[in-house]
Amino acid sequence: MKTCFHTHSRYSDGKVSIDRIIQSAIDHGFERVALTDHGPVPFPSEWNMPYDKMFAYLEDLKQAKDKYRNKILVLKGLEADFLPGLKQITFFRDMGFDVLVGSVHYVNQFDDGTPFNIDKSSDTFIKGLREIYNNDIQKLAQDYYHLVIEMVTKDKPDIVAHLSLIEKYNHRLGGIIDTEAKHYRDLVKIALYIISLSDTVLEINARSFYRGLSDDFVPGMWTVKEAQKLGIDITINGDVHAPEDFGKYWKDAIDFVKAAGYDEIVVFGEKGNREKIKIN
Ligand SMILES: [Zn+2]
Ligand SMILES: [Zn+2]
Repeated sequence: MKTCFHTHSRYSDGKVSIDRIIQSAIDHGFERVALTDHGPVPFPSEWNMPYDKMFAYLEDLKQAKDKYRNKILVLKGLEADFLPGLKQITFFRDMGFDVLVGSVHYVNQFDDGTPFNIDKSSDTFIKGLREIYNNDIQKLAQDYYHLVIEMVTKDKPDIVAHLSLIEKYNHRLGGIIDTEAKHYRDLVKIALYIISLSDTVLEINARSFYRGLSDDFVPGMWTVKEAQKLGIDITINGDVHAPEDFGKYWKDAIDFVKAAGYDEIVVFGEKGNREKIKIN
């Protein structure tokens, strides 16, 4: 069964309507799809939907769910930002979402109070690293993984998104993070250990792979093998932003997780329900 629990429509930074995303998922043989546009944040943002759009978003998802009932299971989802002290993911859960993808995109802030979005661009990444962290990449990585741990323990998303997001621009920036260094791997191991104690499922995110940013999935092989040893459940997501994305990764992702030692993945249903299915 092909499934995807991480997609974006025009409600955030996706390229097309909810309808178009769902139709493409059907065309590519997916049986379940969650729309997970970027949820609101209490500061200006280019890609997060405003709080007052959430009602229209939920209503559109409800209608889409009914409309496509006989063709695909549509889940009402959100990619929710973890922001320390706010418990936003817990709050969104009460609003009727089926599945919540938890992400750490914002780490610390600039002197003028602007949140540092580590995902935005390599230029922003370099600027934040220099201005906030005095080029101390280990400190930035430490803050990032500590936020992931805090998110998993305090805000309890269903899925932890793109665990190694901090490495997104590593290739482009000449490997400024030594991902094989003990210090860095210890950070990853601690985050995995905490995830293994929680109910949160680890996402295997295909977006960097099919965009050619990386040969690997996110997180990469070493991390997914460690996750497997710890008994962490995984799910495969396309982080789809355009209809054609659905056709670019599934088989490679299955081969990847099998090579890491997995023989089953988690699929989600309505209201956070989940089941494990065998892959072959
Ligand atoms: Zn994200
Ligand atoms: Zn996303």
